[in-house]
Amino acid sequence: MTDSTNSLVNKLARTELIDMVPYQSARRLQAGNGAFNEKIWLNANEAPGTGEYKVSSDCINRYPDFQPDNLLDAYSEYCALPKQQVLATRGADEGIELLIRTFCTPYQDNIVICPPTYGMYAISAENHGAGITKVPLINNELDLDGLAEQVGKAKVVFLCSPGNPTGNLLPHGQIKQALELFKDDAIVVVDEAYIEFDAQKSVASWLSDYDNLVVLRTLSKAFALAGLRCGFTLASEAIITMMSKVIAPYPISAPVAEIASQALNQTGLAKMNAQVSNVISLRESLIDWLKAQAWCETVFPSDANFVLFKTAKKDEIFNLLMKHNILIRDQSKQQQLANCLRISIGSEQELESLKKSIKLYFNANNS
Ligand SMILES: *Cc1c(COP(=O)(O)O)cnc(C)c1O
Repeated sequence: MTDSTNSLVNKLARTELIDMVPYQSARRLQAGNGAFNEKIWLNANEAPGTGEYKVSSDCINRYPDFQPDNLLDAYSEYCALPKQQVLATRGADEGIELLIRTFCTPYQDNIVICPPTYGMYAISAENHGAGITKVPLINNELDLDGLAEQVGKAKVVFLCSPGNPTGNLLPHGQIKQALELFKDDAIVVVDEAYIEFDAQKSVASWLSDYDNLVVLRTLSKAFALAGLRCGFTLASEAIITMMSKVIAPYPISAPVAEIASQALNQTGLAKMNAQVSNVISLRESLIDWLKAQAWCETVFPSDANFVLFKTAKKDEIFNLLMKHNILIRDQSKQQQLANCLRISIGSEQELESLKKSIKLYFNANNS
C-alpha cells in the first residue's frame, strides 16, 4: 500500500477506526494457515474432533432461504422454542453485533458488560459507536448493586453464563434479578455459548416470562463446528422480527445450513452429548492435576470446555508450551485476571502432551 492510498483512507474513514485495535482472536494472534496438525491448539475453546458431513451442491446456483427451514426446524426442536423465536446467524458473534445495531443508536446509547468477559461485546459496541459501561464481576458473579445503577442508562446488558474466560455459570437467582432490574429499560443478553456443558442450566425456557431476555447460542464449541460459523439468537418473536430488519439478506449459506442440520439430527446430537461427557471428565482431571502443582496458585471452577488458572510463572509456562507447539490463551490483560492462563479442553493426548511438557520443564529447572 502506498502512502497516498493510506492518507486517502485515513481522510475518508470514520476517525475512531484509525486507532481502533480489532478483536485479538486466538486465530488472529496465531494463524492456522490450514496446517492444524502441526500444533496443538488449546487457545480458542474449540472441540478436538471433526465430524463427517455430506454437502450436496444441488442448489448452489440459487440464493438460500433467508432462514433455511431445515436448519430452523432442527434448532427449534433442539432448544424447544417455536421457529419464530429463533434467528440463525453467522456465529453467535453476529448475534452480538445485531443486538447492538438493533437497540443502540450510535453516539447516544450504551451497553453494559461485566468484565472479565468475552471481548466481542466491547468490540462490536465500539465499531457501532455505542458507549460501553463496565460493571465488573465480584468473585466471578454479578454485582447487582452496580447493575441497578445502570437502569435507565443502558439499552443492552451482556451477561455470559458460563462465563468466558472465567468458566463458571452465573447463579440463576442473579440472572433473574438482572432481568427484573432492567424489565422496562434494557435487553438482558445471556450468552450461552458453553451451555451444552451443563445443559440443564440454560435460561432459554425463561423466554416466556421475560420480554427483555435474549439467549445466544453457537455450534462452535460443544458441537465442534467453529469453522462453520453458525450461531443462534433466541428471543421473543418481536425481538427476532426487529433483528431480521438489520441482518444481511442471506445470512446463512446453503452448505452451512446443510451441515448444521446434520449436526442437529439424532445422530449428531448423540455424538455431541458423548463428546461433552468426554470433555467434562478430561476437564476434571486437568483441574485435579493443576491443583496438585506447586506453581499453580488458583484454579477457577469450570462449567465449560476450558480451565482458567493463576500462576506467578505464567510467562514461563506460556512460553515453554509455545516452544513445544502447544498454544494456550494468556488472559492476564483482563481486569481481575493478572497472571491467568486459559487452557481449552482438547483431546486426551493433547492434554497429556501439555502436562508432559510442563513436567519436563519444571524437573529440569527443579522448582
Ligand atoms: C466463542 C464464543 C462466542 C462466539 O461464538 P461463534 O458462534 O463462534 O461466533 C460467543 N460468546 C462466547 C462467550 C464465546 O466464548
